[in-house]
Amino acid sequence: MPTANRRAILIATTNAGKLREIREILSDLPIEILSLADVATLPEPEETGRTFAENARLKAAYYACATALPVVGEDSGLEIDALDGAPGIESARFPGATYPEKFNRLYAMLDARGGRESTARFVCALALLQDGTVLFETEATVEGHIAPEPRGSGGFGYDPIFYYPAYGRTLGEASAEEKAAVSHRGKAFRALRHFLAAHP
Ligand code: IMP
Repeated sequence: MPTANRRAILIATTNAGKLREIREILSDLPIEILSLADVATLPEPEETGRTFAENARLKAAYYACATALPVVGEDSGLEIDALDGAPGIESARFPGATYPEKFNRLYAMLDARGGRESTARFVCALALLQDGTVLFETEATVEGHIAPEPRGSGGFGYDPIFYYPAYGRTLGEASAEEKAAVSHRGKAFRALRHFLAAHP
């Protein structure tokens, strides 16, 4: 539970990879960063939005109503141009019990479309809500392309198949600091950090 007299914000995610990155970016604020592990267990809301932004708002609104805390909802995913933006908002639910299985399925789909190295981007939308009001929202991307095969074991999720041209490596091969400096989540949460610092 939040410590008395200290501002607390709930980050509405159970994804350990996301949470690690978000905590690092917000670490220098005088704000207690809570996760869903710190509040009473609730059933997850259904992600019925049609966009990352709608899902980010929906998650924030659900947990803000349930906990009475200020809540950041975050929705993110990988858009592959040759697959018409798939897996997109379905990234977490894309078929495959493990990420290597998801990669194999995506590679088979890309091979069927004539080539693996499609342009692609990660997208991150976030919304900060309190008492039913949206205080801040933003969306950010990082552009790259799909690597011919998975490389690296850093980061999480689709990082090993996302090649970032300026680094000449996948985000799975980049350090946590290198990823945060250019990533969709790094950009979006630095904008949130700026907002929170300006609105104590
Ligand atoms: P969400 O929890 O519905 O927002 O799903 C996000 C999913 O998108 C994650 O589970 C990953 O599959 C994918 N994703 C989002 N951000 C990243 C990232 O930074 N690296 C790799 N995969 C990501």
